[in-house]
Amino acid sequence: MAFEGLTERLQKTFNNLRRKGKVTEADLRDTMREIRLALLEADVNFQVVKKFVKTVRDQAVGTDILDGLNPAQQIVKLVNDELVKTMGSTDAPLNKSDKIPTIIMMAGLQGAGKTTTTGKLALKLKNEQHARPLLVAADVYRPAAVDQLVQVGERIDVPVYQEGTDANPVDIVRRGLAQAAENKNDYVFIDTAGRLQIDEKLMQELSDIKSLAHPDEILLVVDAMTGQNAVNTAEGFNNQLDITGVVLTKLDGDTRGGAALSIRAVTGKPIKFVGQGEKMEDLDVFHPDRMASRILG
Ligand code: GDP
Repeated sequence: MAFEGLTERLQKTFNNLRRKGKVTEADLRDTMREIRLALLEADVNFQVVKKFVKTVRDQAVGTDILDGLNPAQQIVKLVNDELVKTMGSTDAPLNKSDKIPTIIMMAGLQGAGKTTTTGKLALKLKNEQHARPLLVAADVYRPAAVDQLVQVGERIDVPVYQEGTDANPVDIVRRGLAQAAENKNDYVFIDTAGRLQIDEKLMQELSDIKSLAHPDEILLVVDAMTGQNAVNTAEGFNNQLDITGVVLTKLDGDTRGGAALSIRAVTGKPIKFVGQGEKMEDLDVFHPDRMASRILG
């Protein structure tokens, strides 16, 4: 479960604060130091922590809440509001094209959960909108990757366009889109190649696919358990590809939560979905306000 440590530390800090009748400036300073340490320990990006603490402190001082009623409660509210803001304030729904198909390009490093997430999202659209998606297998570097997407397609009963591993990914995407047009699929998911790390060849290939397909959505899939590496990966992909959103996977196994709290603030791009398990149903819309409540416990 994400945020265990952060929730515990913040609760302890706020309980200490609540116990005081009157909150002095020194109490506020101690509280902000505790919050800062709690966020850093949760692996939140350093710059994000700095800005977070400064904003909350400035607001607490600027609005004279120390002299008002229930200062502890008001500080908790400031922290809550800033958590929501840091994670993007509002839900970011999936982009949708005016005419079919809506093209969703899936990107991410190997093992992040890209193929699984492609299946989860296709299933979600199928269940909620009676969508008729097509999955296109454009990761030609690992034979297992194509097989895995085919298996995912079978599990959720969604067709997969594939040409094995001998064709050029850009050509596969072109022909996959032609097939989608013929079959009147309303969503096309392009499962692109994953690598162990960002390299020039990968980025060039993704740029070429982007230029050809003009995707409505470029979703980057990152593994929450990798913490600040997930944030750096998101920054790297965003700089090269101008992604439209992030899917944060494996939140079920992430006890710290640093990626969830940093990605939006660092990249400016919203987290749209979170993966919370290995089953095809384990994908949820990311709600900044609910996530903040969960963090505060
Ligand atoms: P890809 O290389 O990016 O396509 O990654 P895969 O889709 O093959 O996923 C890698 C592993 O992560 C698989 O064992 C998935 O079952 C697992 N996985 C993906 N998403 C989640 C998630 O949200 N929670 C958990 N616990 N496991 C996940």
